[in-house]
Amino acid sequence: MSLHDIDKEVYDITIVGGGPVGLFAAFYSGIRNMKTKLIEALPHLGGQLSALYPDKYIYDVPGCTKILAQDLVKRLEEQAMQVNPTIRLNERVVALRRLDEKLIELETTKGLHYSKTVLLTTGMGALSMKKLGIPSVDRFEGRGVYYSITNKWMFRDKKVIIVGGGDSAVDWALNLKDIASEVILVHRRAGFRAHEAKVIELFHSNVRVLIPYVVKDAHGTEKLESVTLTNVETGEEVTLETDCLIPQIGYEMNNSLYKSWGLDMDEHGIRVNGKMETNIPGVFAAGDVASPVDSPKLNLIAIGFAQAIIAVNCAKHYIDPSSPIFPGYTVKLR
Ligand SMILES: Cc1cc2nc3c(=O)[nH]c(=O)nc-3n(C[C@H](O)[C@H](O)[C@H](O)COP(=O)(O)OP(=O)(O)OC[C@H]3O[C@@H](n4cnc5c(N)ncnc54)[C@H](O)[C@@H]3O)c2cc1C
Repeated sequence: MSLHDIDKEVYDITIVGGGPVGLFAAFYSGIRNMKTKLIEALPHLGGQLSALYPDKYIYDVPGCTKILAQDLVKRLEEQAMQVNPTIRLNERVVALRRLDEKLIELETTKGLHYSKTVLLTTGMGALSMKKLGIPSVDRFEGRGVYYSITNKWMFRDKKVIIVGGGDSAVDWALNLKDIASEVILVHRRAGFRAHEAKVIELFHSNVRVLIPYVVKDAHGTEKLESVTLTNVETGEEVTLETDCLIPQIGYEMNNSLYKSWGLDMDEHGIRVNGKMETNIPGVFAAGDVASPVDSPKLNLIAIGFAQAIIAVNCAKHYIDPSSPIFPGYTVKLR
């Protein structure tokens, strides 16, 4: 693919990463009247909260006695959408270049974007679905093997094998049990990482659970037709006919990019000063990815929110030095 400008318009701030911190930053930059774009690698917003623990309660967000991670994401989305930021999903930022004093170019998997400032809220790094790494399985990706699901109705009346023992695997098994003609969940050990209540529901459902098995091979001509599993204790092999294989064995994270963008890093992440500025002028970082000099590294949502406020206010002042860093207090949105 040749690179092209998918959006020639220059934004005041482009937020990379749509986790809780990026979402809150998108709202905050909106109330500072900054033209805002948010780019997220995954097909959905919410970062770790959506990808890793949607059904876990969070108890340490100010003002919420307890809140499900997925509900906090909904509220953050709702709050951000009030200020109409441009949101680009399914698009990973792969390079960052400072073209001049007030212009930064971001290269993504889909093209080029331009911004006066950039706020990196990339958390644990670009998350992507972990692959099984079995060539015969990879051969059928999109033709029976699916690592991510965008439309659950495509599994209607199909035989489905799901692999994994975490929240995603169990959630999808429960989600598809009344849509697919048969759902088998394959897990390599007796212990599940998924939410306890969901696991109980799983064992009381019509889902067939096969433990302790791993996928060994996939077979078919045009599309997937069957899968061979190995019992990890006995070595016994079993081949099952199936239409679909859905591996849900976790996410992979990649932070190695930042060094190649010229950012100073330490063992905790991208180094930032008290204004959340990185070593590249106009580029800020907040949340889990940021490693503030001279302050403790606490990977917590509330800390990320406060860092986002500092970063956005300082970005505003960077673009327009006549605009104060302190924004004053919030008033009703127009
Ligand atoms: C199991 C678990 C339980 C937790 N419980 C709590 C809790 O109770 N309370 C609490 O305060 N914290 C909790 N945390 C920590 C909390 O989830 C993190 O502090 C928070 O998610 C950080 O938010 P973030 O927006 O900085 O990053 P993330 O949530 O990691 O989001 C970053 C986003 O950026 C995207 N991204 C990365 N690189 C790119 C790129 N190059 N291009 C485009 N997009 C990119 C990623 O896909 C991701 O969506 C928990 C964490 C875990 C794993």
